[in-house]
Amino acid sequence: MPNFDAIASATVQKASHLEPAFVHPTQDKIAEQKLAGRKKRPNILVFLMDDVGWGDFGCYGGGVAVGAPTPNFDKIARNGLQLTSCYSEPSCSPSRATLLTGRVPNRHGLHRPPMYGEAGGLQGETTVAQLLSEGGYVTQAVGKWHVGENIASQPQNVGFDDFYGFLSVSDMYSEWRDPHYFPEIVYSDARTEWVKNMPFNRCFVHAKRGQAATNVEEVTIPILSLLDEKWCQYSETFITGMAKKDQPWLLYHCTRGAHFDNYPHEKFLGKSPARHPYKDTMLEMDEIIGRLVETLRATGQLEDTLIFISSDNGPHMETWPDSAFTPFRCAKGSTWEGGVRVPGLMMWPGTIEPDQKSDGIFDFNDIMPTALGLAGESARLPTDRYIDGIDQTSFLLAPGGASNRKFHYYWLQENFSALRCGEYKMVLTATSDDDAGSAGPGGFTGTLERYAYAKLYNLWLDPKEQHNYMTRKLAYVDVFQHGIRHHLGTFKKYPPKKVLGQKAS
Ligand code: CA
Repeated sequence: MPNFDAIASATVQKASHLEPAFVHPTQDKIAEQKLAGRKKRPNILVFLMDDVGWGDFGCYGGGVAVGAPTPNFDKIARNGLQLTSCYSEPSCSPSRATLLTGRVPNRHGLHRPPMYGEAGGLQGETTVAQLLSEGGYVTQAVGKWHVGENIASQPQNVGFDDFYGFLSVSDMYSEWRDPHYFPEIVYSDARTEWVKNMPFNRCFVHAKRGQAATNVEEVTIPILSLLDEKWCQYSETFITGMAKKDQPWLLYHCTRGAHFDNYPHEKFLGKSPARHPYKDTMLEMDEIIGRLVETLRATGQLEDTLIFISSDNGPHMETWPDSAFTPFRCAKGSTWEGGVRVPGLMMWPGTIEPDQKSDGIFDFNDIMPTALGLAGESARLPTDRYIDGIDQTSFLLAPGGASNRKFHYYWLQENFSALRCGEYKMVLTATSDDDAGSAGPGGFTGTLERYAYAKLYNLWLDPKEQHNYMTRKLAYVDVFQHGIRHHLGTFKKYPPKKVLGQKAS
């Protein structure tokens, strides 16, 4: 396994609706044996943060070095598998929908985040929660949703038994209330009224499967400061309650932090060495994951639970200094590595070996097939649509395992942007990141550039994607062209979908 080479190896496509994958008989057998030896199917905890950078945790080079120590995240990394090439999509909603559906944005149709009650969401998609639920799992969602506010796209209608959180994104509840950012709204009764009449729910909600969501509390700025604490308590209660039940569970815990603007809980306000709201919020994120892990330990479920920790995209540089640390090029909103390379920690004591590190590619769309693989429910994968995700069970469970994925495909809204294989990345279309047309240039700034000749970057020699290596590395062109032809070819049988910018249904 250590000598495995993704560029020089061939994949196998098991069915026309499934993404080709590597077959690794040795590691597959190890994973199979580990799962066969278990009394109970594993619980799955997905802990997804918002706009936290690849480098923010100490174990990725941040932590104390960037004024916000993360001892709990670092300990989890030491006790599990640390992924250095975990990929989200460029922004919140595309990433979350990809994680939940196992499909790239051009298939689930959420190419960008819906805002202020805009129509369009997960409606019509099949989610990992729905499939695990059909397989006997209890499914709980807590925190940020942001993959559709319309009733049919709400969590309790797409596979979750229960939801406690808000349906949109942090800044939508706060920015127009804050005189620092929006004086022209705060000091105008007419504009305040105008915002209040927009078709989004200003409250965070509770919902049970199939029932209407009920408002819990209006998300004012003081309440916003308390949300991560409230949501943590809700998840602690859920985990504690599940210890007494026989069913395995999925907990999809999505934090408010550390999306702009951050208003830290008073317990953390000014407590980070940096004494900045973003950094104080990182302290809270670290404390919360520590509490959830402790709850699992105290209730005897830690060794029955796979924990996946990540962030839904790279740092949002247009809102600096409410943004995070990445060593890579550009930021949230772009398909340069800074926009989509996110932290990825996997911990499952007793099943995933401690102190594992891998640069193998793991894609958010791998979560669904992997969760089904772990649950022994792979047969539930839909056959009526293309599934981009790959079952990565053996990559995660076998010590020193190799990724089962050959390519990561980068999508920038409706534009196919790039693909990666091994340490090489070919870029066809991307945003310019040297545009000064914004207060803080970042991934949402700049023009769309389609290159006359594709660019090729070696991400190990050149992680900042500054040195186009193409004309010296033509031997790789065929591998990448094959990947592009295959990927774009799947859209002929399975046409792309677009759900935003359409009329409300
Ligand atoms: Ca985000």
